[in-house]
Amino acid sequence: MPADVDGYRAEVRTFITEHAHPMAREGVRVPVDRAEEVAIRAWLAALYDAGHLGAGWPVEWGGGADRHLMHDLVLMEELILGNAYRPLDQVMLAAHAVIEFGSEAQKAAYLPKIRAAEHIWCQLFSEPDSGSDLASLRCRADADGGGFSVTGQKIWSTDAQWADMGMLLARTDPAVDRHAGITAFVMPMDLPGIDVRPIREMTGEAEFCEVFLDEVRLGPEHILGEVDDGWRVITSGLASERAFVGANAIQLQRMLADLVLLASTARLSDGSTAIEHEDVLATLASALARVEEVTLIVRDTVDRILVDEEHSSDGPVAKLAYTETNVALCELALGLIASSSTIDDDGIEVADRWRHNFLWSRALTISGGSSEIMRGLIGRQLLGLPRA
Ligand SMILES: Cc1cc2nc3c(=O)[nH]c(=O)nc-3n(C[C@H](O)[C@H](O)[C@H](O)COP(=O)(O)OP(=O)(O)OC[C@H]3O[C@@H](n4cnc5c(N)ncnc54)[C@H](O)[C@@H]3O)c2cc1C
Repeated sequence: MPADVDGYRAEVRTFITEHAHPMAREGVRVPVDRAEEVAIRAWLAALYDAGHLGAGWPVEWGGGADRHLMHDLVLMEELILGNAYRPLDQVMLAAHAVIEFGSEAQKAAYLPKIRAAEHIWCQLFSEPDSGSDLASLRCRADADGGGFSVTGQKIWSTDAQWADMGMLLARTDPAVDRHAGITAFVMPMDLPGIDVRPIREMTGEAEFCEVFLDEVRLGPEHILGEVDDGWRVITSGLASERAFVGANAIQLQRMLADLVLLASTARLSDGSTAIEHEDVLATLASALARVEEVTLIVRDTVDRILVDEEHSSDGPVAKLAYTETNVALCELALGLIASSSTIDDDGIEVADRWRHNFLWSRALTISGGSSEIMRGLIGRQLLGLPRA
């Protein structure tokens, strides 16, 4: 445990109050226009510049010598509590992959640009027929004149429409074991042959995209790690921001406070507020119990992460608990809204947040591994069940 976690928390809180780009809408993940994109990039650059982000990087690339995992957790908690724009997972994972597998030239080319938020990255992994079973991906990178020619389709690529760089997985050897024939590439998103088409979601926003690749030319300098070793590059990157999982508990506690606010401002046809009713109180109490359970699960996980003793099922358990509880809270909130007739003025914003959260909540049970996949992992890794 670092000496002064409380001191760090106070420092981050002040920094967020003074510099943060507030979320224009609850859960904003993609800028709505160029002005917002500029503001978000400036905010991310400020976080790197102050040493709050990228502090775990090697010191020669801007990392802090005395960084501790607890700092990452505190940072993420304070960003949530301060309703500030949060750093993009894709950028952090790309940074870790470049640090771990990149050549010196790649590190020099990309890491400073990430720190300056000049480069936003996206992940080009999933394909229309390859999501949970990512190793079945078919996008081809054919050796061609000392480089590669890439052709195929990616989908669900978050932020691809404003990303400067993509971390791409493509098949370089179709003849070998499917995990073995995949290569990771760093790909500038403005190369000829790349067509990015945003997909509009039920929330009304377009946060992810289809990306069509038609004979895109990549050189040897774009290979990340070794040819045919792409599987190792992405799986090691995915474990990089471990302590951030802890912040999910804070997110749920914030939502619980929002649920109480909703119940206190939504009114039934007789003019009473929802919270005056016994059944609503009982519902709130069971929501509180569920959030407490997740908080304990997450705290337990973080404790093990801090002493480097995590179990392989910790991530899946924490993810499943958080995302499914998130859905359950959204369903409770929508139930409250549906059974109410009017809402006080100070409840309008919170009701809007719940409607948005409800539409978004299912996405979290899919991204980063679906709930079914998490249950399968828990069954095998924690309970020792045989593979079906
Ligand atoms: C918000 C969001 C952001 C995303 N961002 C990115 C991104 O930036 N880059 C990127 O590459 N991808 C991204 N994805 C894609 C994501 O990784 C995939 O959606 C995910 O891996 C599931 O793949 P799929 O959609 O193809 O569903 P499928 O794998 O086709 O699954 C369909 C259904 O079958 C179930 N299923 C599949 N296999 C099994 C199994 N073995 N056992 C039990 N049930 C199973 C699944 O749980 C699911 O319910 C994002 C997705 C979301 C929702």
